Amino acid sequence: MKNFSYARAATPQDALTLIATLPNAKFLGGGTNLVDLMRENIEQPDALVDVTRLPSAGINETENGGVTIGAEAKNTAVANHPLIRQRYPLLSQAILFGASGQIRNMATVGGNIMQRTRCYYFYDKSSKCNKRLPGSGCDAIDGFNRIHAILGTSDDCIATHPSDMCVALAALDAAIHINGPGGERTLPFGDFHLLPGSSPHIETALQPGELITSVELPPLAFARRALYRKVRDRASYAFALVSVAAMLEVADGKIANVRLALGGVAPKPWRAHKAETALAGAPVTLETFRRGAEAELADARGFRDNSFKIELAKRTIVSVLTEMAQTGGN
Ligand code: SF4
Repeated sequence: MKNFSYARAATPQDALTLIATLPNAKFLGGGTNLVDLMRENIEQPDALVDVTRLPSAGINETENGGVTIGAEAKNTAVANHPLIRQRYPLLSQAILFGASGQIRNMATVGGNIMQRTRCYYFYDKSSKCNKRLPGSGCDAIDGFNRIHAILGTSDDCIATHPSDMCVALAALDAAIHINGPGGERTLPFGDFHLLPGSSPHIETALQPGELITSVELPPLAFARRALYRKVRDRASYAFALVSVAAMLEVADGKIANVRLALGGVAPKPWRAHKAETALAGAPVTLETFRRGAEAELADARGFRDNSFKIELAKRTIVSVLTEMAQTGGN
């Protein structure tokens, strides 16, 4: 690991000043991904600005009935918080599926949003990887790509986004509050992570020197009826092959409200807008659910080892919606 300097920020302004003045510096949250990447010399910052002691770990109700979650809130605190468990069980479920208890105790919300792909070739410095070294190629496209993406890929990168928490945030229409040299701004969650296109090394809309300060969840009455399902190779401590985050409201035998997002299938948390459009107002039947799933996966592209994900994603969507229609979710 390369040597680096360490500074602990006491206030948000302190953090912004440090990141602006220390050359090649990065913010450090729980370190559960960044430190791994530094050990492998994939990330090589000259300085770390520790933001875990900032006064931004609160989880609070907003005036309009939503909730804000400070970026330094630990994943465990979010998953177990009564406001989240009661109003946004999808988020609680997704976080609990996301990692071991030890990692959830360390990982912050901001760090979870910023975590990077687990593509094997990204971590192997002897492999070609456009994300690690722009213009070098992508060994995953013709290599072993069982865990890779089937939606939103490009000729330069087919990596998946690894977070479970972010799949729930995509379905919940969260907003991300940011502070930086240009002042404060807010981004819809769906605009925060970027598809790879021809620049897979640019993964988010965050500008240099900017810091995520909080995540805001809008009030959403039907969010109480939610289900997160994660399909993976092992029963625990594995990233999703496919995951489905769903909220469903049924009235008079028809779909009154539906939200769907997918994980493990795309370079960003994938909001399933096409499926939602196909499902809205339709009768609650197996055929309807299958039609919604087909609509979302119509543009999916499989590679040598991951084409199975296309049918797996469809069946998982249908299974989750069927269970929710029968039980109302959790
Ligand atoms: Fe790198 Fe993306 Fe290719 Fe993986 S899929 S090797 S992260 S460019």
